[in-house]
Amino acid sequence: MVNFYIGIDFGTSGARSITINPQGTVVAETQFPFPRLTDSSEWISMWKTALFEVIQQIPLHFRRQIDAIAINGTSATVLLCDQNGIPVDSPILYNDSRGITVMELLKTIAPSEHPVISATSSLAKLIWWLTVDNRDIKKQPSTPFYFLHQADWLGFLLHGKLGISDYHNSLKLGYDVENLTYPNWLINGLQSLINLEVLKLPDVVTPGTPIRNITPEIAEQLQLPKTCIICAGTTDSIAAFVASGAKLPGEAVTSLGSTLVLKLLSHTPVNNTKYGIYSHRLGDLWLTGGASNTGGAVLRQFFSDRELENFSRQINPNFNSNLDYYPLIKKGDRFPINDPELLPRLQPRPNNPVEFLQGLLEGIAKIEAQGYQLLQQLGAPPITQVYTAGGGAKNQTWTAIRQRYLNVNMVQSIHTEAAYGSALLALNGGRWV
Ligand code: ADP
Repeated sequence: MVNFYIGIDFGTSGARSITINPQGTVVAETQFPFPRLTDSSEWISMWKTALFEVIQQIPLHFRRQIDAIAINGTSATVLLCDQNGIPVDSPILYNDSRGITVMELLKTIAPSEHPVISATSSLAKLIWWLTVDNRDIKKQPSTPFYFLHQADWLGFLLHGKLGISDYHNSLKLGYDVENLTYPNWLINGLQSLINLEVLKLPDVVTPGTPIRNITPEIAEQLQLPKTCIICAGTTDSIAAFVASGAKLPGEAVTSLGSTLVLKLLSHTPVNNTKYGIYSHRLGDLWLTGGASNTGGAVLRQFFSDRELENFSRQINPNFNSNLDYYPLIKKGDRFPINDPELLPRLQPRPNNPVEFLQGLLEGIAKIEAQGYQLLQQLGAPPITQVYTAGGGAKNQTWTAIRQRYLNVNMVQSIHTEAAYGSALLALNGGRWV
């Protein structure tokens, strides 16, 4: 009997599932676009509906033979639950910056320059709950509260074991992924705000680790085998990286979406706050990278997607336009140039739109090459091959231009969906292969 593996992606606009066989071939795909909800208290029930829907849409003959499931959520989307796993407040989403109000307190707790010092980090959101929220959980000393990430909570709905997370989701909570422990500064800092008998931080495991079997009731409801294992999850961007197929140090994934995001596998962690560079652990390797404000959003300012396709076809990628652009929508970048005052450089502008587009594509390609050079200067290995994700990945002319600047093998990813990466985690059970 063949076993199948489900990866479930909770992204920003919807949930989707991908089911694979042991060879990694996709056998089923389902999705549930999120409705627009005005009341954040409705997210919880909507997520639960989405989770069950994307599983129930999988054809029954696959569903009956599912071996394992892994789920990725959006990074730094968090919940506070009671001991039954029922959220005591609306979740706080990945991009919610209410944590800005606790930045001063956060800076007294975390080491200077730590990546948790950001208004949208999981830790900023937890501290907001502990200090600003008028629910005042400290007034209920006998009731433990569980802090969870979106993927942790969704996994809990299936396996029923409260208080488990993975070290990708927990990085922005302050978990020490090198030493696999909560650091003293975090424990001491939180203890100064609340009794840690009352606030339960999740136990952190390797992403993809089997946690336990699905509960018998949920197995019956979703018509999944009782032996189906629910694995620890990950974040959406790491799941998308895993999906790409990059595996070895030196292999990189560039995401050409609205912004430009670089990710590179390294033997050692590479961190640098000045440039917003930090590293996630992937087994014995490290995934380092950075994000620039340049990217497809600048292209969209000047061209429709149709024009991008038509004009790109008219560009000869082997010749340089000699335009020296730094394409930005507004001033300021952090990586690979850290300068909040950096101005967009888009002059001189030729009359011919094809030439102008060439200048923009070259400008972004130069920033990409500069980004990988910076990562190498800071200790990452030289890049050996580059996979591409995002809306710009399909642009062959751009790939050829980028190859000219990067001078490495450009590889077409077979899979780019985060759900596929999560399905691989379920298949591999926490081993990075
Ligand atoms: P995100 O998820 O970051 O919003 P996507 O990965 O969906 O972005 O990519 C959208 C971006 O891709 C847009 O900014 C658009 O300018 C760019 N894009 C779309 N088609 C092309 C193309 N043929 N060549 C280059 N860029 C493109």
